[in-house]
Amino acid sequence: MKQQILIIGAGFGGMWSALSAVRLLDQHQRLDVAVTLLAPQAELRVRPRFYESDLSTTVAPLDPLFDAVGVQFVQGSATRIDAAGRRVIYRSASGAQAELNFDRLILASGSQVARPPLAGIDRFAFDVDSLESAQKLEAHLQSLCDKPASQARNTVVVVGGGFTGIETATEMPARLRAILGDEADVRVIVVDMGKQVGSVMGEQIASVIAEASDTLGVTWKLGSPVSMVDEHGVQLDNGERIEASTVVWTVGVKASPLTQQIDGERDAFGRLHVDRNLKVLGQDAIYATGDTAYAAVDELGNHALMTCQHAIALGRSSGNNAAADLLGIEPIPYSQPKYVTCLDLGAWGAVFTEGWERKVVLTGKEGKELKMQINTQWIYPPEAKREIALAAADPLIPVVA
Ligand SMILES: Cc1cc2nc3c(=O)[nH]c(=O)nc-3n(C[C@H](O)[C@H](O)[C@H](O)COP(=O)(O)OP(=O)(O)OC[C@H]3O[C@@H](n4cnc5c(N)ncnc54)[C@H](O)[C@@H]3O)c2cc1C
Repeated sequence: MKQQILIIGAGFGGMWSALSAVRLLDQHQRLDVAVTLLAPQAELRVRPRFYESDLSTTVAPLDPLFDAVGVQFVQGSATRIDAAGRRVIYRSASGAQAELNFDRLILASGSQVARPPLAGIDRFAFDVDSLESAQKLEAHLQSLCDKPASQARNTVVVVGGGFTGIETATEMPARLRAILGDEADVRVIVVDMGKQVGSVMGEQIASVIAEASDTLGVTWKLGSPVSMVDEHGVQLDNGERIEASTVVWTVGVKASPLTQQIDGERDAFGRLHVDRNLKVLGQDAIYATGDTAYAAVDELGNHALMTCQHAIALGRSSGNNAAADLLGIEPIPYSQPKYVTCLDLGAWGAVFTEGWERKVVLTGKEGKELKMQINTQWIYPPEAKREIALAAADPLIPVVA
């Protein structure tokens, strides 16, 4: 019987794990090891684009790629990981319970926005975390033009001024005007706990975010958290109220709940601590990758962030190393010392920075050209041709955006 490398998740971490595992097995001509990927859909859902209005091109089918390289795809959702028994229980597409055995498991089930237990948040706040929630937001925005004109109708509150909040907010004036008309008096307000615009992103990039916000007419309410969301807007902790028909929640993110089923140390986001080869500390057959892994990127104490920039490189490493483990050959330790940020700032452009301190390198139109290239080409799956796809999965290829 074939040995099994089982991967949970078809995001950046999972897709690249599958390709890099097949790549190494191929190089060693090991036909006795199978690579199986379990996920609800054979699709790469490009989450970094879910703040956009046109979601039609944010999903890339993976069936042709998996067929080309020989990854077995199983449609379903993992419900239980039995580490000792080396099996994963899952609910299949038809709703039936089934299980898959593994010799090595790679957990690549990603992350989700962390909604705190706040009054009204589940009923009235939108988010841009998943394809379904982004589609729901877009449908709601489209429906605004059927409502009588009012300041609340024309107002979007974005809760959270981090990466996702900034991209969502700076895109929003154009999205609203496309629906409500060029002359509409639209208001986009970012509510953030920080003391300064964009402060969570670092000092250098913050001034660029402030300039773009001013130009676009995006305003910031700083220093007070939201205490309640209702049908007509938000209440802040300091007593202030903002009337808004649309509230988008972007604060906080947490690793997939499947991480809780694996014994091991976790960070504040629920990510599993892994060694340099991305094996979960304390486990002998389980790897974590992408947003489920708390992984050192260098020898200086920096760790991977929950970004697709890191998930791509983590995936290429985890797949290679899980396969290497089964083959009894040397793994290639994960290393990703270069870190960049490319933040979309709507019609103003984008800002590209280098390093952990986020030194500004490109802004405006130049930044935007790079962002478009990253978001529409670089992070998409490779061509569904065996040689091309496997070559692209080399763990030594540096990921630079
Ligand atoms: C709006 C937004 C903007 C972003 N912008 C950027 C950006 O500009 N740059 C950047 O680098 N990053 C960005 N990110 C972050 C980036 O999208 C994530 O870090 C990345 O998607 C993580 O990849 P992943 O493979 O770990 O997880 P995901 O992409 O979340 O994929 C997880 C996979 O696991 C599957 N799965 C989940 N649960 C189960 C289960 N129980 N059983 C089976 N399968 C399961 C899912 O269906 C999915 O296929 C952004 C995210 C958002 C939401």
